[in-house]
Amino acid sequence: MSDVDQWLSDFGSALSARDTAAAAALFHDESFWRDLVAFTWNLKTVEGPGEIEAMLDTQLEHIQPSGWHVTEPPDTADGVTTAWIAFETAAGRGNGLLRLRDGKAWTLLTALYELKGHEEPRGTHRPKGVEHGANPDRVTWLEQRMQEAETLGYSEQPEVVIVGGGQGAIGLGARLRQLGVPTIICERNERPGDSWRKRYKSLCLHDPVWYDHLPYIKFPDNWPIFSPKDKIGDWLEMYTRVMELNYWGSTTVRNASFDEDEGRWTVQVERHGQALTLRPRQLVLATGMSSQPNMPEIEGMDVFKGDQHHSSKHPGPDQYAGKKCVVIGSNNSAHDICAALWENGADVTMVQRSSTHIVRSDTLMEIGLGDLYSEKALANGITTEKADMIFASIPYRIMHEFQIPLYDQMRERDKDFYDRLEAAGFDLDWGDDGSGLFMKYLRRGSGYYIDVGASELVANGDIKLVRGKVARLTEHAVVMEDGTQLPADLVVYATGYKSMNGWAAELISPEVADKVGKVWGLGSDTTKDPGPWEGEQRNMWKPTQQPNLWFHGGNLHQSRHYSLYLALQLKARMEEIETPVYGLQEVHHLA
Ligand SMILES: Cc1cc2nc3c(=O)[nH]c(=O)nc-3n(C[C@H](O)[C@H](O)[C@H](O)COP(=O)(O)OP(=O)(O)OC[C@H]3O[C@@H](n4cnc5c(N)ncnc54)[C@H](O)[C@@H]3O)c2cc1C
Repeated sequence: MSDVDQWLSDFGSALSARDTAAAAALFHDESFWRDLVAFTWNLKTVEGPGEIEAMLDTQLEHIQPSGWHVTEPPDTADGVTTAWIAFETAAGRGNGLLRLRDGKAWTLLTALYELKGHEEPRGTHRPKGVEHGANPDRVTWLEQRMQEAETLGYSEQPEVVIVGGGQGAIGLGARLRQLGVPTIICERNERPGDSWRKRYKSLCLHDPVWYDHLPYIKFPDNWPIFSPKDKIGDWLEMYTRVMELNYWGSTTVRNASFDEDEGRWTVQVERHGQALTLRPRQLVLATGMSSQPNMPEIEGMDVFKGDQHHSSKHPGPDQYAGKKCVVIGSNNSAHDICAALWENGADVTMVQRSSTHIVRSDTLMEIGLGDLYSEKALANGITTEKADMIFASIPYRIMHEFQIPLYDQMRERDKDFYDRLEAAGFDLDWGDDGSGLFMKYLRRGSGYYIDVGASELVANGDIKLVRGKVARLTEHAVVMEDGTQLPADLVVYATGYKSMNGWAAELISPEVADKVGKVWGLGSDTTKDPGPWEGEQRNMWKPTQQPNLWFHGGNLHQSRHYSLYLALQLKARMEEIETPVYGLQEVHHLA
């Protein structure tokens, strides 16, 4: 019997015997069990035999796991054996990834992928689509769709309302549709994809196509590596239609309140200017991490005579040829906007207040993502689904240890580039512990630029760089704290976005926002991600302290992968399957 088979057999026997101590003893002292809904009805990482035993003591009787087996031959490298596994629970079926060292578990990922009795109608279960025979009362697919559109939200209430209709809501909506969960997506813009269309005109996705697929329909293999924003907008619009989503465009959610006794929300919306009340059981805020602008308040903004706006409102460079433009900020949006203005003949100055992490797009693709998300990965049998699971299997607690060597390699490979940037006065960083871009994203969601060309312009002085804090604005200039005057016809505030629980405060109440606390971050005790350690991203895709309220979002990769677990949690509640949540997160920060 192989190591892995032996381990799974011992683990399965201990679990069946409800011998939690024996099960926990199969893990190393330093070990991590990350569970996505299967055992905890939560997204939760437990660490070491003690925490593992405590989790099993609480959950095992209810979960009743069985049928542990490998789904393909394990791999061994550097003393670690990695195995794809599958199992069942009382409620569903799960899969995962196990890493063994010296016969004991180092990391275990368990993930629920379907609920028994509620399997998605796909593959061998796909719908027939036609009713053969003669039926005078035949209702066509189109008639059914039209009837649904007329009744849902009016004479029938949805189970779920998703606030916001960006890519996050659309992917989640598709999964809920497959699971038969009646859902309405409310989006204040007119059309799916508008949240991309309305961003500055030079924007292309910063992540490559292999990382960006939505659930169910992959981009075709002629799709560009970096999708232009309007093209992704069109894809989302097409996707929304063919996935049969109940997408209410031109619909603004005004407010929502939860009736504890009834277990339903009252959601006031305005659809095409008409007030309407929805009464869903579950409310998902998919209002975007990057959609509530963080606008600074600077003395003199009211006297400045030129144009000024947040980066999210920047119309593009066309009207600024020959003008003096000052862009405040030095992360992704600032760089993209500076480069587009420069290309259009503007005189551009970037104001850098604090250090920024920069990594060249090609280098990031090759060293950072290449093994999991690339043509090379596909050729090696790493499908998007497998890549997502491999990524999810690295515990957040030690993820930086895997990232640091990659960023060391990047620093070495692009040494000349970084030297030139620093010589131009640019303040660079690599994250507090040198772990680079992805950790910065997970911890604070900001503080970096994936270089697609603007850095060269900074290094050679075409984009002028000024370091320091802005003191005030005058009628025609930005004045720095050291007195430097930057004449300006345009000021762009590329100053980032606010935490998503700001949306809960705005749409529900400040009390509910405080009750659920900060959204995003790991509690890593690094810049902008205060401790204590949380182990998972705060409030994302999992139960919150406010019953029946959920947050969904993140980049395309996260939305694709975690929408499955959120959809299963919502479906389980609709079907009144018991869902005892283990380790509901505590709130340590309000925003
Ligand atoms: C400049 C820039 C570049 C980016 N590049 C990438 C990239 O390359 N790859 C990547 O994966 N991610 C990228 N992102 C992150 C990007 O924001 C997300 O991937 C994506 O937009 C998130 O989708 P979402 O659905 O969570 O939120 P959003 O796309 O922000 O959608 C939220 C929606 O909610 C709507 N809304 C808000 N309030 C209400 C209300 N009260 N009623 C109704 N509707 C409401 C808004 O109109 C908006 O359409 C980038 C972000 C920015 C700003």
